[in-house]
Amino acid sequence: MTKEYDVVVIGSGPAGYVAAIRCAQLGFNTACVEKWLNKDNKTVYGGTCLNIGCIPSKALLDSSHKFIEAQKHFSAHGISVGKVAMDVPAMISRKDTVVDQLTSGIKGLFTANKVAGIAGTAKVVGNNKVVVTDSDGSKEELAAKHIIIAAGSVPIDIPPTPIDQDTIVDSTGALEFQEVPKRLGVIGAGVIGLELGSVWARLGSKVTVLEALDDFLPVVDRQIAKEAIKILSKQGLNIKMGSRVTGSKLGKGTKKTITVEYTDRDGEQKETFDKLIVAVGRRPFTESLLDESVGVELDEGGFIKVDDQCATNIPSIFAIGDVVRGPMLAHKAMEEGVMVAERLADKKTQVNYDLVPSVIYTHPEIAWVGQNEEELKSKGIECNIGVFPFLANGRALAANDTEGMVKLIADAKTDRILGCHIIGASAADLLQQMVIAMEFSASAEDIGLTMFSHPALSEAVHEAALAANGHAIHIGNRKRRS
Ligand code: FAD
Ligand code: NAD
Repeated sequence: MTKEYDVVVIGSGPAGYVAAIRCAQLGFNTACVEKWLNKDNKTVYGGTCLNIGCIPSKALLDSSHKFIEAQKHFSAHGISVGKVAMDVPAMISRKDTVVDQLTSGIKGLFTANKVAGIAGTAKVVGNNKVVVTDSDGSKEELAAKHIIIAAGSVPIDIPPTPIDQDTIVDSTGALEFQEVPKRLGVIGAGVIGLELGSVWARLGSKVTVLEALDDFLPVVDRQIAKEAIKILSKQGLNIKMGSRVTGSKLGKGTKKTITVEYTDRDGEQKETFDKLIVAVGRRPFTESLLDESVGVELDEGGFIKVDDQCATNIPSIFAIGDVVRGPMLAHKAMEEGVMVAERLADKKTQVNYDLVPSVIYTHPEIAWVGQNEEELKSKGIECNIGVFPFLANGRALAANDTEGMVKLIADAKTDRILGCHIIGASAADLLQQMVIAMEFSASAEDIGLTMFSHPALSEAVHEAALAANGHAIHIGNRKRRS
């Protein structure tokens, strides 16, 4: 028998679960289909973000940060702790507990909001029809006035280094190491490479990151990227830019190793590691999702084609999150979920794609929103730039966490803030105030005239805004015209 819903959401990652909850809140009879099974073969909600992405990676980043603090930085505060040791299985098991807590939280939210969670793999077989195949092969048909596809993304594989999730792993395998690899290779100096490379470097791995491009973090403001590579290299990440991987060979001994062959500007090179993480990007996941007869259009990258409100070419079908264009970020996915739900309820709604914040959760964190100096220069937009280093911030000094800076860029004619770029402790949280300010079209002067608590790291944002207009208080005038 066909079950009927107003909305069927496919996928329960941040895009799907948020869309489903918001749809239910708005009065739609909503189902959310999820195929993810945990180690015990039970359906779990939350997608990549909760199970193998944002949350578990941050759990390991936090554990390894505490380890390095105890090992290297407590003594500056007069605290001696003797020899600091890391129990890796305990760290991994804590991470698993955090994941379990959050994924069961989604189940609870579905119940509370009356979203029907349906286990199985969904296929869109008609404009208003979805067939769900359960893990035992049984099939169920769902009819829906609206279908929201939120099927997410998966890691990209490259032929020279086939993933075996043992010696050569993707980001999922890198969250499961049961001991610290002595020599860790990472392919890709992107977000995952730097975050997971940092985790294992802090715990004692000798980490080499091989990056094909010559420019480090090309999407990041150059001044910030330059500071980042300096700091991360000091922390032990050996980042080799311009290194293109060409092949690999698994070692034959009892203790497996992996030798990676690559070319750089000096020619052919090879290096042997105990584990290799491949982190070269992700691709949209649309396998067995769409019956061809429905005619949902994909773009040349395999993403589902949507307009700026996430409508596909089929009026009853929407697509959101990693499976569509734009940055592959959980918060972007969630906002698209809300936007589509509200659109279905005929509410005015939109996502401001110009103000999607980005964060790399290394320590210090790297966070930015809006445009960077190079982008603005290339458009010929004259800007005032204010930079404030954390070294001159009282709270950063008190915490002994003084690396990095805040860089604020304002339009030279209107003073409107066009970009904010931070490298520093808690950069993600500091940036958020600028995301809000920019949503309200704030000027650097507006931020300068706002009172900030003292002592706080956020005073660095205040001072950068003052500096953009040439009157920072706690540092020499750092105003620069670009
Ligand atoms: P997903 O989270 O991938 O969810 C898609 C869901 O759809 C999955 O559960 C899948 O099983 C299900 N599905 C797919 N096809 C079907 C089908 N046919 N039937 C039923 N179910 C189906 N982003 C951040 O913003 N901050 C971070 O700190 C961050 N850290 C990350 C760390 C790592 C290691 C990784 C890998 C990613 C990280 N991301 C981070 C990216 C973030 O996880 C994704 O942008 C986000 O999960 C995308 O959400 P989504 O709902 O579109 O897709
Ligand atoms: P990425 O695009 O950030 O980085 C991939 C890197 O690999 C690039 O620098 C690329 O030049 C390099 N590369 C590609 N092919 C290569 C090759 N053959 N040899 C050497 N280098 C190569 O991708 P990612 O780090 O895999 O992350 C995937 C996505 O997940 C990101 O786009 C991001 O949106 C999301 N993510 C976000 C966060 C966060 O928000 N903190 C954390 C993790 C992941």
